[in-house]
Order: sequence, then C-alpha cells, then structure tokens
Amino acid sequence: MTSSNSPIQLYNTMSKSKQVFTPLDEKNVRMYVCGPTVYDHAHIGNARPAIVFDVLFRLLRHVYGENHVTYLRNITDVDDKINARAARDFPNLSLNEAIKKLTKTTEQQYQSDMSELGCLEPSGQPRATDHIAEMVTMIEELIAKGHAYEAEGHVLFAVKSYKQDDEVKYGRLARRSLDDMIAGARVEVAPYKRDPMDFVLWKPSDAGLPGWDSPWSKGRPGWHIECSAMSKKYLGEVFDIHGGGIDLSFPHHENELAQSCCANGTEEMAQIWMHNGFLQINGEKMSKSEGNFFTVDELLHTEKFGGQQWPGDVLRVAMLMKSYREPIDFSLGKLEEATKILARWKKSMADLGLSFTEETREEYAGFGPCSKMVAALSNDMNMAGVLAELHRHSKGDRLHNARRLFGSLKLLGVVTFDSMRAWEKIQNTDTTNIDTAPIEMAITSRLTALTEKNWAEADKIRDELAAEGIKLIDGKDPETGARTTTWEVVK
Ligand code: AMP
Ligand code: ZN
Repeated sequence: MTSSNSPIQLYNTMSKSKQVFTPLDEKNVRMYVCGPTVYDHAHIGNARPAIVFDVLFRLLRHVYGENHVTYLRNITDVDDKINARAARDFPNLSLNEAIKKLTKTTEQQYQSDMSELGCLEPSGQPRATDHIAEMVTMIEELIAKGHAYEAEGHVLFAVKSYKQDDEVKYGRLARRSLDDMIAGARVEVAPYKRDPMDFVLWKPSDAGLPGWDSPWSKGRPGWHIECSAMSKKYLGEVFDIHGGGIDLSFPHHENELAQSCCANGTEEMAQIWMHNGFLQINGEKMSKSEGNFFTVDELLHTEKFGGQQWPGDVLRVAMLMKSYREPIDFSLGKLEEATKILARWKKSMADLGLSFTEETREEYAGFGPCSKMVAALSNDMNMAGVLAELHRHSKGDRLHNARRLFGSLKLLGVVTFDSMRAWEKIQNTDTTNIDTAPIEMAITSRLTALTEKNWAEADKIRDELAAEGIKLIDGKDPETGARTTTWEVVK
C-alpha cells in the first residue's frame, strides 16, 4: 500500500459480512464487473453499477497505484434480446448485419454515456463474441470432468455435480438450498434436463440465428459462461473482486461460480463478491421490462425528466449520495438536491481561493484527497462519511480546505481540472458583452448537420458550445413544424 493507512474493508455477499480486503497480488489487484447487454440504451439504473465500481476502481488505484489495478467489464453482444431487437429495428438488413449494427451503435452509446457520467474506461472491455473459442474450451473441460452433459445439441451444467464431501455446493452464494431455488426461480423446463436447475452452457442455433461451430451443434453460448471464460483469460482462475447489481447475484453469479470452480478445480472464483442495490422509481426497480425507466442519454440530452437536462456530474453525485448497497429512489427532488450540493462545493472552492487556469494546472494536479474521506471510502464505501468530510471542507475557511475538497472530488470522479475550469469561465462570463455572431453561426451549422442526419457533427457543435457555457434549447416552430434552436448562458 502506498498512501492510505486505513485498510479497505468490503462487504462480501458470500460471507454476508464486511471483511478486510487483502489483494492476492498487491501489484495487480483484479476486479471483474458484469457489464451491459448491448441491445438498447443504458437506463440510469444500469449506470449505478458502472458508477459504484468506478469509484471503487479509483480508490484501488489511489491505494495500490494506477498501474496496479486491472478492472474488466465485459460487453454481452450475443443474446436473444439482441437477436430480437436487431430483427425489429433493421428489417432490411440480414440478421447478422443488423446485429452488428445494433451492438456497435449501442456499445458506442454506452461508452459515451458512462464517460459523461465521469467513469474511467476500465482496463479491458472484452466482448463475448470475441471469446467463443475460450467458452467452448471451458465447456469441454466441464464435460470431461463430469460437470456438464450434452443433450440434443445443448450442453447443460449439472448443478448437483458441484459438491464437496457429498454436499451440494451449488447455492452457496445465494445461501439457498436446491429445493428453495427450484421453488423460487423461473426454471426452464426441458425434457433433456437431468435436473430442473441445470442451466444452459451451449444451445443450438436455428438457421438464420447467429451460430458458431462446436463439437455439439452449430450454436451459441449461454450467458453465464462468457464471464467465467473471459475473467479466467484476463484475470486468472481466482481474482480479487467480482461485482454487479444485486439482481445478478442469483442465478448469474451463482452459475459463474459453479462453472469456474468446477472447470478450474478451485475453491473460489473471487475473494469478494459485491453487489449494488437497485435504483428505484416510486419504490419499484427501474427496469426495461417494467417500462419505468429513463435512459442516461435522455437525462443528459433531453428535457424529458423534470423539464430540463441533467449534467453528468449532477447524476453522478445523486448516485453517490447513498451507500451502494442501499436502494436509491430516483426522483426530481434527488437531482435538485445533488445540483445544490455540487454547486456549493464548486463555489466554496472558488471562494476559498482556487482558480483554475493554465498556470495552476500543474500545481493543482498534486492536490490529494482528504485522508478522512479516503478512510470513509475505504470503509465499504461509506458515503455518509464521505459526504460529511466533503461538507466539512466546503464549510472551512482556508485555502487548505479548498485544496482537499478538490483532491477529494477528483478522486470520486465528480470533478476534473477541466470541468472546474469550464465552470469558472462561465462564472466569470459577463453576459451583456457576449459576441453573439459566432454562436448564431454555430447554431446554423448544427441545424444543417441535423437536417443531414449527421448526429455526430451536431453533437460536437453542441458540446463545443456547452464547453463555452452556452446551452442550446431545441424546439419546433408551432406553425411550420420546423426545427428551431435558441440559446442561453448557463450560470
Ligand atoms: P443488464 O443490462 O440488465 O444486464 O444490467 C447491467 C447492469 O445493471 C447489471 O449489473 C445489473 O445488475 C444492473 N442494473 C440493472 N437494473 C438496475 C437498477 N434498477 N438499479 C441498479 N442496478 C441495476
Ligand atoms: Zn457476469
């Protein structure tokens, strides 16, 4: 460890307790988090694990060094939901072309959404379709060791084969017995299954559906095997932290655990299993299937929620106001509160004497976080403690407090030097003396780009203006229906 005295403690879903985190290898701390299935825009609930584990990634880099942490987040680009959506959205393309187009654009959108929410790029983002061979190899190993069997072109994992001293170990993460799991789960009944809980490792593809050659059928992998195969390839058979939303703890993580331990002959897959709580809306989990969702893109770039756009840093703060294991209720009030808190932090940095200019860039890069804030973060990411420290510094009366506040907010990924620089420029803008001609010209170019469906160019222009503190408001002429754009200075 380099710069923190308090050890990191994390709540482990497996042991149902908080435990001191000791990496298997301090020089390479390894974390795997289950990532998106790329068939549709990410909703703000999907952003929660991305933000929570990004904060943990940043803390681990702070403690063990930037080059000593490997964070893998996979991209699920083979899935029946993808097949169905691709066929629906691109009926004129061949299914393969449609799938390529859908997964590529959805993945790009995901990356840009997460970056706007202040998330660092993980060390690696492997795609499932690039690792079919590794999955086939692992399935072959499972069959050879008697943990999986072939039936009618399918391969199934035999859950009861995962045992030790005659005791079935399947269910150890969920802490449920097989009987309880069968009663509680929506298990797919199929004549070829030896046990109702046995799950698919490989399934045949009908003509027209994506399929790869394998010893069993031209087919495609089940979902769970991709994480076992890719985490093994990049992080090894046993690694430090495995994360995801609480809905993934069963069956997805239970199945990953069984596959990996059985294929590799290991006791464990990860030292610590971590799960974030749900983001809820009116007390219900936000989800695509319930239709009660707002996409990250909608929140950032449209006025659909609460009649205004919500900047990425506000969304991030709203997400960090509660500890990651608790549910969060997503509401207008929460976003308004986050807006106020963030504005107060930024203002107090300025009031206490920080000024973000080219001359100060290098000096400010050296400002580290408050050690009490790091201690709170190290305590299973105790956000109440983190917020208390941030507030303490924002209410301080010395330059020292401003430096610590900046260092702390930087570690949390809430601000960067450049975001503070842009904010400071806006604060200093005298709106009465703005030269409107270049703004009007940019708006005209953007309207042309929009007419030509050149979304990338239109976004670029909007973002450039935003960096100057000019916010665009799109509308429609009530009579002609033509697109109109007005602008205002954001204070
Ligand atoms: P999915 O694309 O549905 O597999 O979800 C991607 C990630 O988002 C997983 O880690 C899920 O557990 C997580 N997730 C989905 N919905 C929510 C929600 N409402 N709140 C928090 N996490 C969620
Ligand atoms: Zn997974």
